[in-house]
Amino acid sequence: MSDDLFLKIIRREVPADIIYETDEVLAFKDLNPQAPLHVLIIPKIHIRTINDIDDEHAELVGKLFLAAKDIAKKYAMSQSGYRVVMNCNGDSGQTVFHIHLHLLGGRALGWPPG
Ligand code: 5GP
Repeated sequence: MSDDLFLKIIRREVPADIIYETDEVLAFKDLNPQAPLHVLIIPKIHIRTINDIDDEHAELVGKLFLAAKDIAKKYAMSQSGYRVVMNCNGDSGQTVFHIHLHLLGGRALGWPPG
């Protein structure tokens, strides 16, 4: 798993604008933002896709959402609104195979997504 891009960001081998970190979770700005705030929230362990989430990961996945809530509050988006989304495999557009929550906010977001 040493080639996983996000593991390299966790190890600081690839630079990223890191805005949140705990023992288990890291969050950083997306390189190609789709909204004024676009953050990726990842577990520090490698989980390839949603399909690979097991019961043992349930608490950890919950912590991704707690991070999203905290970051949204920090960026004053709790009331205005924001979106969290996790892609899974080809049809969703997943390109990095280490699960990540996208947190998007700072503008009105269209629905349904493309
Ligand atoms: P996915 O398409 O897998 O759901 O999302 C992957 C995201 O990772 C994309 O939004 C893409 O812009 C972002 N991304 C890809 N490479 C890098 C990188 O090296 N650094 C950062 N910060 N984001 C990246």
